Amino acid sequence: MQTDIDQLIDLINQNLNKKLDFYTTTDNISVIENNLKTQLKQYVKAIEQLRINEYLNSKSKKRKMVFIDYNTFTACAIGAKYFNIGAYGTSHGYLLNYGVFMPLFNKLKKIGQIGRRSNKNIIKGKRNFVGKCAEVKASYAINKKNRITNISDIEFTKAYRPRTMQTIKRCNNCVYIFGNV
Ligand SMILES: [Zn+2]
Repeated sequence: MQTDIDQLIDLINQNLNKKLDFYTTTDNISVIENNLKTQLKQYVKAIEQLRINEYLNSKSKKRKMVFIDYNTFTACAIGAKYFNIGAYGTSHGYLLNYGVFMPLFNKLKKIGQIGRRSNKNIIKGKRNFVGKCAEVKASYAINKKNRITNISDIEFTKAYRPRTMQTIKRCNNCVYIFGNV
């Protein structure tokens, strides 16, 4: 039962990634941020609805609400803008091909291997997994539509933890790659 739920949540996580692709926009970054928050609230609602359905559909007499480990939720999401292209990104999963955006891929390679924690000789303090961050995904999404020549020209919203809607401080990997907020 728990495995089924985990698989369903993974589908919701993937669906969130699909929804948050690039789009052409004249919106400023604060509008993009509000859109992101709306999407994230819907995402959390979808998971809550899943729990309720699971409970209602259970035939067991001892049925109880299933527990959802917070690790199964997408940990972080962000919005970004580069000229007239907006996009979002989440920390769920990895991209299929990091090589399609060489200026960013080259920076990622400097801090370590995709999918591994960043190199401690380069990144001090807490080290995140290279290539996983929402900032990276949002940048790649924009780059699909509009080639980014200068990474520092990407404008970002605050990063959010969807489960709680708390804002998240930029990680050490991203400070190295995108600069300080
Ligand atoms: Zn990061």
